[in-house]
Amino acid sequence: MLVDPSGRKFSYLRLSITDVCNFKCVYCLPDGYESTSERDFLSLKEIENTLKAFAYHGIEKVRITGGEPTLRKDFIDVVRAAKSTKGISKVALTTNGFSLEKNIHSWVAAGLDSINISIDSLDPRMFNTITGHDKFQSVMRGVDAALDSGLDSVKINSVLMKQYNEAEFDYFLNFVKKKPVSLRFIELMQTQDNLSFYNKNHVSGQLLKTRLLNEGWSELKRSRLAGPAQEFAHPDYQGRIGLIMPYSKDFCSTCNRLRIESRGRLHLCLFSENGISLREYMNKDTPEELIEELARYIKNKKPTHLLHHGLTGATTNLSMLGG
Ligand code: SAM
Ligand code: SF4
Repeated sequence: MLVDPSGRKFSYLRLSITDVCNFKCVYCLPDGYESTSERDFLSLKEIENTLKAFAYHGIEKVRITGGEPTLRKDFIDVVRAAKSTKGISKVALTTNGFSLEKNIHSWVAAGLDSINISIDSLDPRMFNTITGHDKFQSVMRGVDAALDSGLDSVKINSVLMKQYNEAEFDYFLNFVKKKPVSLRFIELMQTQDNLSFYNKNHVSGQLLKTRLLNEGWSELKRSRLAGPAQEFAHPDYQGRIGLIMPYSKDFCSTCNRLRIESRGRLHLCLFSENGISLREYMNKDTPEELIEELARYIKNKKPTHLLHHGLTGATTNLSMLGG
């Protein structure tokens, strides 16, 4: 297994397959996607080699992300490649849900096990304001289709923001009363691009946690392959609430994930510097050299990010890396 100098073991890979996105989320790509370099994203063959190398090192779960990963024409092939990689038991997707309604069944047939859908508002007008797209009803029909599709889990990601959707907190709770989904509030993160937006809109996850505990929610034990969320359950609610709080004291101590960005750079942390290009090794006929490089670079993983000191590393926005 890959083990870093802090003794953390890595079982979870977040694989970004494109940085292109069709949405304009106010906290991520407020001006829409602008290409800064060639669209030379990892090929299917490079993705297959990458998956094999990580699986060799004990990675069991892969999350396909972006940009909007489902925009790739060969998206289904990527799902199939992940599912057929020996050692990978769980293939997950993070999507803005724009084509969920239409495609969920073919993604599941290709081997998708679980899905996270980003929905920042339950009010169609606010959804439109946040994402720049009038897709709320279709995304919600997609959520129902996902719940009926046989996936192991359907989760919803929401970023609460003071000037937009903070007041919807109770609507979100009400939403999971009868829906068996896990709704996770991701604390707004500062990136190089969004400092003034962050200062105006950051909502403390710690305050949300206090509120949940006061209202009878209880924290659940974290499973081994779990992502970064602290999960809460309540006897009167079918769904669960998750909190992803990157600014909390212990966030990095349970880190079990590594990231590959869509042009082949390894990121040891979401907020590290530029990442390490491993593309020349992904390109080879076999993954042996990539396997060796991964074992070498894991030694450079730092104990924690420095986000709480306002240091965002080289991350200009999260569409670069997939969150
Ligand atoms: N396009 C897909 C989507 O939106 O689900 C996948 C990529 S997106 C970068 C992954 C997740 O990162 C989304 O749930 C999004 O809400 C979250 N995200 C993006 N920028 C963020 C920020 N500055 N702070 C917190 N979460 C952010
Ligand atoms: Fe696109 Fe996802 Fe960023 Fe929204 S959060 S702009 S959907 S990459």
